[in-house]
Amino acid sequence: MRQGIPFIVSGPSGGGKTTLAKSVLGKLDNLRFSVSCTTRKPRDGEVDGQDYKFISEAEFKKMVHEERFIEHALVHGNLYGTPVDEFENARVSGVDLLLDIDVQGASQIRKKYPEAVFCFVLPPALKVLERRLIERSSDGDIDIDKRLKRAREEMEPSILEEYDYIIINDELDEALESLFSIIVSARCESKRILEKVKSNLLAEEND
Ligand code: 5GP
Repeated sequence: MRQGIPFIVSGPSGGGKTTLAKSVLGKLDNLRFSVSCTTRKPRDGEVDGQDYKFISEAEFKKMVHEERFIEHALVHGNLYGTPVDEFENARVSGVDLLLDIDVQGASQIRKKYPEAVFCFVLPPALKVLERRLIERSSDGDIDIDKRLKRAREEMEPSILEEYDYIIINDELDEALESLFSIIVSARCESKRILEKVKSNLLAEEND
C-alpha cells in the first residue's frame, strides 16, 4: 500500500479555496478533509468537528506544548492548527488528506513533508477578491481591508513560487477540474506507487 498524500490548499480568504476543497472531496474516493483546530468562534452553519474543532486558547496552547500539531499559525488574530494524529493516521493508512491552511502553515509542512503537494488558489484579480469579500461580509465578522492587505502579502511571487501548482479561480468548474487533475496525477506519480507495483509484480511471478 502507498502512503497517503497530503494535498495542501492555500490562498487568500474569499479566493474560493474552501468551496473548491469541498467540491473536490465529493468527487474523489480515498480523500479526506483535515479538520483543523481553531480558537475562532464558529460562524453560522459551521459544525464543530466537521468544519473545525472549535477550542479555547488554553486548550490550543496546551496542544502546542504537547506537540500535537503538525503546524500551527496565527491568522487574522485567531489560532489555527493541524492535529498530528489525524494527519499521521491518514498517511500510514494510505488515505489522501486535503488541508485548507494558510501560507505559514504550508511552509512549516513543506519542511517536514516535502513529498506533500502544494496548491495555491488565486483569485483572478484583487478587485474580484474585494467583491467576493464584500458579498461575504454579511457574516459580520470580516474586516475587508485587513483581509485584502493580507491577501496582497500572501500573493507575493516569493511565496507563490514555493507552490507546486497555482489554480486561478476564475470559473469554479475549471478550477475544480484543475484541482481534481492535480490529485489524480499525483496519485499516479511513479515515485509514490513504484514500490507497490514492484511487490504486485513479484507476487504474480511467485503465484
Ligand atoms: P477561516 O477562519 O476563514 O475559516 O480561515 C482563515 C484562514 O485560516 C484561511 O486562510 C485558512 O486556510 C486558514 N486555516 C484554516 N485552518 C488552518 C490550519 O490548521 N492551519 C493554518 N496554518 N491555517 C489554517
